Formats: sequence, C-alpha cells, structure tokens
Amino acid sequence: MAIESELAFDIDMDSYDELRECCKGKKVCSVCWDKFIVPSVKLIQDVLLNKLKFYKTLWTFSGSRGVHCRVFDDYARAMTNEEREAVYNMCIAEAVSYNVVLRLDAPITKDRTHLLKVPLMIHPGSQRLITPFIAKDVEDFVVEDVPYLE
Ligand SMILES: [Zn+2]
Repeated sequence: MAIESELAFDIDMDSYDELRECCKGKKVCSVCWDKFIVPSVKLIQDVLLNKLKFYKTLWTFSGSRGVHCRVFDDYARAMTNEEREAVYNMCIAEAVSYNVVLRLDAPITKDRTHLLKVPLMIHPGSQRLITPFIAKDVEDFVVEDVPYLE
C-alpha cells in the first residue's frame, strides 16, 4: 500500500445526466463544460487555494467524460482517509452555499488507494488526449478541440 498519494478529485459528466439537455453518458460538449465543469472547477480550486492553502494542483480533462484534479503539496500527499473525507465534505458544503451543483466521485477523494489515469496519455476508450488545463482559465478550454487518434 502507498505511504503517500496525491489528493484527488474526479468529476464525471454522466453523474449530471438528469440535469443535462445536450448530452448523456460519456459525451461532453462545450455546453456541459460551461454549465457544470466550469463552476465545479472554480469552486474546488477556491477551496484548495484559499481555505487549505494548497498550491500544487494539476487539472486535466480526463480524455473521456469529465475532469480530474490532483494536489501534490506535501501535506496533501500525506493526508489520511479521514482528512480526505473532511476535504470532500468541505467542498460539498461550499458548493451548497454557493449554489453550485458539485458531483464528485467520492471514493477518488476519500480513499487514497484510488488512482487516476496519467496526464498526456491517450484515453484507451475515447482515444482522446488526457489534457492538462489551468483552473483559472477553465472557461477557455474547448473540449471539442482536444486531440484524438483517428
Ligand atoms: Zn453537452
């Protein structure tokens, strides 16, 4: 078992299906992105930066149905499952108070044994590039422009 593991977040668009009118399942378009991903990324980034003082974040389009965030700060990497659960609960509470619909894949954040796919690889299902982006520029990310293998 890993002694340390980055703190991680996973937002999958299929968990928003009953709120989406444009897409379902693994499909993600600019409308989904602007409506659900942008506010969620901004909210989590704000909690990480301003409440927890974590600075080393890596956000990626997962290559398929959503986004991932990893936090590499030393303290974040050493967090216990209980501390990770507290971070998860903090994000959910912030989302409620700011009226953001935040649907995190809970075990990814709460359980440090879960792993995410490596950035800059091709997603094996969608054939699309797992693409990093900067949280403050999340509005400028165009999901349709992500490179893919033919
Ligand atoms: Zn859509």
